[in-house]
Amino acid sequence: MLENFANIQTAAYLFASILFILSLGGLSSQESAKRGVLYGIVGMIIAILATILDTNVQGHLYILIAVAIASVIGIIMARRVEMTAMPQLVAILHSFVGLAAVLVGYGSYHDGADTVHLIEVFVGVFIGAITFTGSIIAWGKLDGKIRSKPLLYPGRHAVNIMLVIISVILGVLFVQAPGTEGLIYLLIMTAIAFFIGVMLVMAIGGADMPVVVSMLNSYSGWAAAAAGFMLSNDLLIVTGALVGSSGAILSIIMCEAMNRSFLSVIFGGFGDTPVKGSDQVIEGEVTSITHEETAELLKNANSVVIVPGYGMAVAKAQYPIREMVDILRKEGKEVRFAIHPVAGRLPGHMNVLLAEASVPYDIVLEMDEINEDLPDTDVVMVIGANDVVNPGAQDDPSSPIYGMPVIEAWKAEKVIVMKRSMSVGYAGVENPLFYKNNTDMLYGDAKESVEKILGFLRG
Ligand code: NDP
Repeated sequence: MLENFANIQTAAYLFASILFILSLGGLSSQESAKRGVLYGIVGMIIAILATILDTNVQGHLYILIAVAIASVIGIIMARRVEMTAMPQLVAILHSFVGLAAVLVGYGSYHDGADTVHLIEVFVGVFIGAITFTGSIIAWGKLDGKIRSKPLLYPGRHAVNIMLVIISVILGVLFVQAPGTEGLIYLLIMTAIAFFIGVMLVMAIGGADMPVVVSMLNSYSGWAAAAAGFMLSNDLLIVTGALVGSSGAILSIIMCEAMNRSFLSVIFGGFGDTPVKGSDQVIEGEVTSITHEETAELLKNANSVVIVPGYGMAVAKAQYPIREMVDILRKEGKEVRFAIHPVAGRLPGHMNVLLAEASVPYDIVLEMDEINEDLPDTDVVMVIGANDVVNPGAQDDPSSPIYGMPVIEAWKAEKVIVMKRSMSVGYAGVENPLFYKNNTDMLYGDAKESVEKILGFLRG
């Protein structure tokens, strides 16, 4: 009977692992994303059942109560969260994984005294603790509760390296020390790792935050894998490794998109990221345009490119934008979207919102695919975007986003920038695009503005 269950459990774990891999594969494109999520849910249900039905597991009632409470909290959080607050939610969920690894480490400390198990505990708690506090700081930065400017102090790299060396020494002492003495080393290391997590993310500047989200995603995967080693649970090891490596790949992709070196981002402020904002003096005058004039421009245009940004998410403007695109396309105009890899506040943020509003996938293009077409475009509509269309990233070495490839909206014949004011974007820098001769500002909430334009297009 026992042996039978062990076989069934192994098969279930294998099946769940395959579902997780299919899930990741599905999430890589918009058409298959929903299916990918479904695979993930089914895989997770199978994984949880196969784990709690294990004959070694006791106290099922407590587990069920905990699962029920956690599910209610999860459902309420997911229902309440605004699409714009998703990054914060993701960051805080990563912190839970980190904390779980720390708790598993302390919980399984007494399960065995062999060296391998003790190393697993020590490393698991170390990664978990860094993930925990790092994710909380990331949550604070994304939520605007903690300043987004990097906190850099002289000698911080030396301090970090020293802390890591001290942790390694504590690890050696921990493995050799029995019982309570070992626990003290573990506690000291946990405090140090909490501190490292805080300092690592505090040192990362606003413009590099996209990478931090994916990097903490990766850390949370490794923390889960470490918990898997501590609990000798193969599925947790496989799942953690999948999350860890896909998060790492995403971080590298994001770094490439921003033209940043991966190491300089994860160690915060290494290399050439300046601390202060741009000191470039911007020339030119700001001109504005009305909704009616914008509608007129669109009616006369043959090709239109829409560049959405974080403001589109805030305003929930994707629905009227879809309607506007439908009308323009019916009139035979070429309308396309240009998506910057770090637009919004989450990797793929804009793609998700446009898919939600049923914008056809084939007119949604990546920055690299569309930049070369912009000089031949009649009108570029920048809707709630700012940093991702900032020319300073190309020609102002003092800008914090210098070197990041951007959507070259200014190369089009006419640019309309739709936002509520002249205020800066996430990176906190002025945008010379607003002052260009061929740019007009259309002030107001993006959704209201698009609705007004729609009124003129229909009428
Ligand atoms: P930005 O943050 O640069 O700019 C968004 C603009 O939207 C603001 O300037 C704001 O101007 C405008 N806005 C806000 N609300 C509204 C509204 N209701 N209607 C109209 N406009 C509105 O966004 P981008 O998408 O251009 O760039 C993303 C930035 O976020 C980059 O710096 C990126 O590095 C960073 N980031 C990205 C992450 C990711 O994974 N994608 C994660 C973390 C950070 P105003 O107030 O005048 O309306």
